[in-house]
Order: sequence, then C-alpha cells, then structure tokens
Amino acid sequence: DAPVTHHTYDVLVIGAGGAGLRAAIEARLRGKRVAIICKSLFGKAHTVMAEGGIAASMGNANPNDNWEVHFRDTMRGGKFLNNWRMAELHAKEAPQRVWELETYGALFDRTAEGKISQRNFGGHQFPRLAHVGDRTGLELIRTLQQKIVSLQQEDFARTGDYESDLAVFHEYTITELLKAPGERSDGKDGVDRIAGAFGYRRPTGELVCFHSAAVVLATGGVGKSFKVTSNSWEYTGDGHALALRAGAKLLNMEFVQFHPTGMVWPPSVKGILVTESVRGDGGVLKNSEGERFMFNYIPEVFREQYATSEDEGDRWYTDADNNRRPPELLPRDEVARAINNEVKEGRGSPAGGVYLDVSSRMSAQEITKRLPSMYHQFKELADVDITAGPMEVGPTCHYVMGGVEVDPDTAASAVPGLFAAGEVAGGMHGSNRLGGNSLSDLLVFGCRAGAGAAAYLDTLTGVPSVSDEALQSAREDVERPIHNSGGENAYTVHQELQQTMNDLVGIIRKADEMELALKKLHELRDRIPRVAVDGRRAYNPGWHLALDLRNMLMVSECIAMAALERQESRGGHTRDDYPTMDENWRRELLVCSLRDGEVILEHQGQPAMRSDLFDLFELDELKKYYTGDELGGHRSDAP
Ligand code: FAD
Repeated sequence: DAPVTHHTYDVLVIGAGGAGLRAAIEARLRGKRVAIICKSLFGKAHTVMAEGGIAASMGNANPNDNWEVHFRDTMRGGKFLNNWRMAELHAKEAPQRVWELETYGALFDRTAEGKISQRNFGGHQFPRLAHVGDRTGLELIRTLQQKIVSLQQEDFARTGDYESDLAVFHEYTITELLKAPGERSDGKDGVDRIAGAFGYRRPTGELVCFHSAAVVLATGGVGKSFKVTSNSWEYTGDGHALALRAGAKLLNMEFVQFHPTGMVWPPSVKGILVTESVRGDGGVLKNSEGERFMFNYIPEVFREQYATSEDEGDRWYTDADNNRRPPELLPRDEVARAINNEVKEGRGSPAGGVYLDVSSRMSAQEITKRLPSMYHQFKELADVDITAGPMEVGPTCHYVMGGVEVDPDTAASAVPGLFAAGEVAGGMHGSNRLGGNSLSDLLVFGCRAGAGAAAYLDTLTGVPSVSDEALQSAREDVERPIHNSGGENAYTVHQELQQTMNDLVGIIRKADEMELALKKLHELRDRIPRVAVDGRRAYNPGWHLALDLRNMLMVSECIAMAALERQESRGGHTRDDYPTMDENWRRELLVCSLRDGEVILEHQGQPAMRSDLFDLFELDELKKYYTGDELGGHRSDAP
C-alpha cells in the first residue's frame, strides 16, 4: 500500500479563491495555525478570472448609494428568495472589505477626484462595482496572496519558519472529509465532528491526511457538470459533495445561473465568458435584424425601473438620476432567457447567438482601455476585432446559487467544525446572483468563516482524532479507479453527464426532460463505480476525473431533483411548463441531504424577513412577490 503523509493544523481551508484566502487570513489573525489547500496552482482559482468588479455601496459614483439600496437590489435580483440576513450582512460589510483590500495593497481604478471608481452592472441601481479595468479578480487574488506572504514574513521573524502558521498546499485535491466524536466545553460531547480531510497530491499521486478540527470549504462552483460553461476544469462541485457526504445540507440547488454572454464561436472556446462590463459600459445586444431586442423583454416586476426607449436608455449613462437604465442591464436570468428566445425564434447570429456591439458605442481607444481582456480574448481566440465589429454571444453555465446551508453570522454548517463560504455556500443570492455580488460575498463571508472557525475551536476541550477505519475507507475510494480493471472510461461518462445536464436540465426546463435526466443520472450512478484508469499515480488526469465524477454526479442529481420539484419559474430556474413566478413558492426552500448514500429532497420554510428590513421596500413592490397573508405588519399599516 502507498504510504499516507500526515499534517496537523488548527484550521484547514479547502480552496484558494477569494473566500478561502480571506478565511485563512482571518483565522491566522485570530491566532490559529492554518493550511490552505487547492486543486490547481496557487493563484489560479476562479476568482482570478473575475472581470467586471466587486459590488460595494461606497457611493463614490453616486452619493445616493448606501447599504440599504444594495440590500434591496440584491433581494430583487434573487427574487426575494435570498437568506435576508446574509444579504443584509453582505450589503453592510462589502465597503469595509473593499477598503481593507487597499490596505493589503490593492489599487482600484480611480475617479477624477481620486476616489475608487465604480461601474454600472445589471440589477444594481447605482454604479457600484469597484474595478481594475476588466481584471478585478486578478487584483483581488494578488493582494490577498500578498497579505498572506506578509503574514508569513511576520511568522518567520517569530518562529524561523515561513510556513509555521500559514501553509499552502497547492495541487492537492481533497476527496473526503473525516469525522470523529469530539468534546466541547458546552457539554455536547460525543457528537461526530470534523476531524480532518483526506486527499492526494496531483503531481505525484501521494496520499495525504490533514488532521484538523475545523474545515472551511471554499471550493467554488459546479459548472463542469454542464457542457457549455464559463467554468474551468476544477469546478466539479467537490465542496458541495464533500459537505453532503459529511452530513451537511445543500439548499437552492435548482438555481443555476446561465450568464447571458458567453462566446459562441469558435466551438473550441464556446462558453468562455464575455464580461457584463461590456454592457455596463454601454454595449448593446442586437438580433440578426439589427433590433435592440431587450426592450421587448422587460418583465412586469421591473417595468418601472427600466427605460422603454433607446434614447432614454442611452441618456442614463450620463444622467442616471433623471433617466431609467437600459434593459440590457436587467438581471442576468432575464437577459439570458431573452437571448435564448431570440435564437429560438430564428433571429440569432450564424453561430447560434446574438450580437453584442460595443464598437459603434465607444472609441477604439476607450474599448482597449476599459475592456483590455475582452479585446485580447476575441482577437486571439476568435480573430474578431471588437473595436471594429460586434461579438457573437450566447448563454453559458456560469454560477451556482445553491450550496451548503450555513449560519449567516458564522458560516457554520450543520456539521460541527464544518464551515463554508463563497460560491460553495448557499442562500445569499436567492434564485439569482447579481454580477459583482460574488467577489463581495467571498470577502464578507470568507472573513466571517475564518472568524467562525477560530471561535469554534475555542469551544473545544478535546480535538477529535481520525480513526483508522475512516482513513482506510477514504483511501479505498481514492484507489478504486486504479484497482478496477476494464469497465468504464471516465471521459465518456463525463461527456454523457455534461450533455444530459446541458440538454435536459439547462436554461429552459420541462418535467418530462428532467425525469429523463434523472433516469440517465441513475444509470451513470451505476457506471461510475466501474470507471477504471491506468495505474499511474503521477499526473494522471484520467484518475483525477474519475474521482471528480462522483461529485459531479451527486451535485447534478441535487440540481435535477430540485428543478423537477419547483413548479414555477424564478431567477435561475425557468420552467417551460410553469412559466410564471408563484408567490407561494417563495416561502419554500428545497433542501438536499444524503440518506443511506442516496440524495433526498425536502421542503423547508423560509423565515420571515425582519421587520426593519421588510420596511425598506414599498408595499406595492412586495405585493409582486409575497402572498397577501405575509404583508401584514408593514410600516404602511401603522396608524
Ligand atoms: P474559487 O475562486 O472558484 O476557488 C475555488 C478554490 O477551491 C480553487 O482554489 C480550487 O482549486 C479549490 N478546490 C476546489 N475543489 C477542491 C478540492 N476538492 N480540493 C482542494 N481544492 C479544491 N463574480 C463577481 O462578483 N464579479 C465578476 O466580475 C466575476 N467575473 C467572473 C468571470 C468568470 C470568467 C467566472 C468564471 C466567474 C466570475 N465571477 C465574478 C464569479 C466569481 O469569480 C466566482 O463566483 C468566485 O470567484 C468564486 O470564488 P470562491 O472563492 O468561492 O472559489
């Protein structure tokens, strides 16, 4: 048997995107020894790909902005299904987290007066996204890493070892969380708690066990379950599946965001993101007839907030106080559905998308300054000059709103010792996330998760220790594809899974198609344990994919089951057979858990919003989302 290498830390952070790095910094600042683990190279998380910016109501571009407006926009974007406490904390704390990044060394683009510049984005009432050109995620990751290095230098001065209190294990994949009974000062002894995590090192295949009483999951999204996606190879829903297997719950899994603008041509790059900043900065969507079709798709609930003529929409860019915003800046779910419909009705571009035009709206110089990555992306990948002609774009699977159910204040899951933050956590964005609200989510809840994990450790009187049986079982699961002979091919199974999710549980859903998808997923569930790979342990991508498949399947089952159950259309969940939003469904959260290895789905009530937050909305707006019996007690009722 291959040996297992052991490491011991106070807190294990799985994931080195924005959420993981911010959690690690916070836990270290609170005196804990922390390990950060990531599947790919340090610095290459999804966060680095974020282009548009980070949403925070600093009010630099419009002094009328504040946390209350940001909170309202976030709840509207999520169609009021959001966990309102998370949305409140997020809106209140995002500005502080952005300022803090500058103290770590970030330098955001500036306004003429030297303030942090903020740009427009879909669903945000005011210009709110702090940005660094269209490379904001790169600056975010760069500065969080810089802060980590500076903490490591402090540790070196004290201990003589840079990694004594904050270590990075990159190119390691965690395959299982390990639990054991533990003791706690509050008398809740003997309960199964987090004791560590098991995994392997990708370049060598070495097996590894981390011993740690607190784990923060910050593993990002699930996009690789779908064929057309903006997500890169790492996003196989590992954190979602690890949490499920450890006994946590996933909520809102039916809500998957299809970003309206992914590249559609050439086929080899289909799905790669075209940032929303293109529209935020003035880009417009046109169909093959040259029509700015978004004016035909303003839904009733948003009618008062969006321009109804091109002139008014265009005036808004220079005078937002006296005009309404153009409908190209509706929330992403609305724009994605509109594009889908234009293509379906025969008004699409040759490659099956629509046109996104920025060349007729800005000078070439402005385009290359404001959107440098987009300019290079199209030039290099599609041989298209976006300063001279339009881009062809269409929807791409981008983000999962669903995730681990957590306590909003501490990021704790239902499993003692397990915390989750960032895209892997659920609730914050409700049925649809606004652009820019992820980067702020990562920092706000990453920080809270690091603090939550540190506080949890202080309540333990004894550290749970990993049992030999748990270790052996995790090891057998990892080695199974190597020991299997013959059988299934990991790549074939993956392709079938992606095609199934794309075609049958994609942007527009129907009961019979989702039933078919579940049947296909059950068939794949029987085949995945038979996947066999050649016996090499060093850099064996087939083996890695074989292990990821188990997670992708589990997450896909959750998405398909919840999507079949929710008989309405809301945010990132559109049913052809139930095309409207139903206020009775707003109170219903669908929650997945595992029972005897099988995914089960249950309904859970949404707690009523605190009255001071409820009163931030006009009653007329709430009536569009709430049932009559929920509206009592609004400030308008006061005598
Ligand atoms: P990620 O940054 O996704 O990092 C996850 C980490 O977990 C990685 O380090 C990965 O290696 C690690 N990991 C995963 N599984 C394992 C495992 N089993 N073992 C060990 N490590 C593991 N949002 C915005 O707010 N504004 C934007 O402008 C924006 N633009 C975007 C552009 C693109 C192209 C994409 C794809 C997304 C964009 N988003 C944007 C969304 C946002 O970037 C992501 O939602 C966010 O970065 C997720 O951050 P995270 O910290 O949760 O995880």
